[in-house]
Amino acid sequence: GIADGATFDVIVVGAGAGGMLAANRAHDLGLSVLLIEKSDRFGGTSAVSGGAIWVPCNDDLGARDDRAKALDYLRTCTKGQVADEKLAAYVDNAAPMVRYTADKVGLGFKAVMEYPDYYPDRPGALPGGRTMDPDAVDGADLGEDFYSLREPYALMRLFGRISMTVSEARAITTKKAGWPLVVAKVIARYWADLGWRLKTKRDRRLAMGNALAGGLLRGLVRRRVTRVLNTRLVDLVRDGEGVTGVTVSRDGVPLTLKARRGVILAAGGFERNQGMREQYLPGPTSETWSVTPFPNNTGDAIRAGRTAGAALEFMDLAWWAPTMRLPSRHTPNTETRVGMFMERGWPGSVIVNRLGQRFVNEAISYNDFGYAMIDDNGKTGANTPCWMVFDATFRKKYVVGGLMPGMLEPDRSLPPEWFDTVLYRAETVGELAGKIGVPAAALAATVARMNGFARTGKDTEFGRGDNVYDRYFGDRFVSPNPCLGPIEKAPFYAVRVDLGDIGTKGGLKTDARARVLDEAGRPIAGLYAIGNCSGSVMAASYPGAGGTLGPAMTFGYVAVNDIAAAR
Ligand code: FAD
Repeated sequence: GIADGATFDVIVVGAGAGGMLAANRAHDLGLSVLLIEKSDRFGGTSAVSGGAIWVPCNDDLGARDDRAKALDYLRTCTKGQVADEKLAAYVDNAAPMVRYTADKVGLGFKAVMEYPDYYPDRPGALPGGRTMDPDAVDGADLGEDFYSLREPYALMRLFGRISMTVSEARAITTKKAGWPLVVAKVIARYWADLGWRLKTKRDRRLAMGNALAGGLLRGLVRRRVTRVLNTRLVDLVRDGEGVTGVTVSRDGVPLTLKARRGVILAAGGFERNQGMREQYLPGPTSETWSVTPFPNNTGDAIRAGRTAGAALEFMDLAWWAPTMRLPSRHTPNTETRVGMFMERGWPGSVIVNRLGQRFVNEAISYNDFGYAMIDDNGKTGANTPCWMVFDATFRKKYVVGGLMPGMLEPDRSLPPEWFDTVLYRAETVGELAGKIGVPAAALAATVARMNGFARTGKDTEFGRGDNVYDRYFGDRFVSPNPCLGPIEKAPFYAVRVDLGDIGTKGGLKTDARARVLDEAGRPIAGLYAIGNCSGSVMAASYPGAGGTLGPAMTFGYVAVNDIAAAR
């Protein structure tokens, strides 16, 4: 435990990937460190994520990437809203952070060579390799701390239970050559681990975000870094202009803790705070649309930093993701949220606003899809929510949010009350339009136009399937365009699409050294912020998969280096 008045060199607030990376690094640079976490688990949203990190100029890329190219790309992505110095700090420290994590913390990463940047047509973009996937981690290495790690979402595991790496999941969803063998291996490994399964159903092999958070937590366990759960930052302690500690509530008991060298805020965004959402984000907005773990990220660190005089930036932005609701099959009156990350690019579907009109290339990144919903709502007042419409062929072949493909989970196996509340179904497009409250003639015209594009392979409206990113999420067995297919076979289906998020990205304004700045642009002594409680280095953009965790960890690394250098 920790006593009132306890003193450390560094206090890290929040145990997501950024906070845990920073705590490992602080220990390794000879600093005494305390990590506090509000919830009853380590890992934050990072633990339930895909675990990918976006790392320009990483070692696997070799000569395919260089500093100028990466900076060029980030400049175009951030449109002059982020100081060059800060972009450069990211490009210069991301790969060293990965090297440190692999060599010293013992968590390795591999570049995913076929995963393209999210704006493949912009200068400096790469067709793959900047996104890195963490190596799987053996949960047994964590000892009893295995149970203090936040569990991954069931929907990101095979049969809700068996973990898969990003590459395995991709091989299976895209039916890559040899995919049945991948499935067989993944299952066999789980079932063969008999001794472990007698202890717990939870898979011992950690993958994706659980590998990331688990690998970083393992580092803390091995270093015996002081870390406490159920301990919430309440406020910052100030001495003159600088920050010298924190007040916390630990299991409801107030404590004051001192930090000699610095406090690093890594407490996530405000996506679970309905009041702050309404104050800052475009409306309508609901915290229930977020796919982050309920209810921890409520902007506590942003508010504490603000009270200490910090400037804020990008508070109207989030890492947007279209999401759908999925009622629980087991517990009445509960439901989960599922992100719609990949299904929008598959052929045989279209997304329309409530006027029955398309408004964007559906296959663009989830973040840009969110902006398109906001823009269209501004113009028409008939978006947020919008509707994804597809036919029987699509339903049979592809995942839609939390609904498995019909060939694995046919309609007759779904709870009857899901029909026309979650999954709308009708024998004709016109009847479907009536059920979802969209003008029938407009929807029929949109579907007819999409069917024409499917035949020619050219979406002359929005260019769906025209670039390498779209096609990454296409179906390579479909031609002439892997992202376009006819919507013609009854029954027809629709799912409501909400403007959700995987975290907000506005917060305390920081400089290239992760120091929190006041309104005059001066650093507040002793105060650092990283991850989603800080204004994002990416501004409104999402450069590629891993564009949120990469910066959280990189600026965690930068912050600790800065504290250690200031002796
Ligand atoms: P978190 O990881 O949420 O950590 C913040 C921690 O702070 C939490 O544990 C929280 O409980 C704690 N906390 C909050 N308030 C307090 C307080 N007052 N005192 C103490 N502790 C506090 N991003 C990527 O880059 N790559 C991906 O592959 C990816 N996939 C995703 C998939 C899904 C399904 C989701 C939901 C998100 C995904 N993301 C991905 C987004 C990414 O997970 C988040 O943006 C990232 O985890 C944010 O990191 P963070 O450290 O800022 O916050």
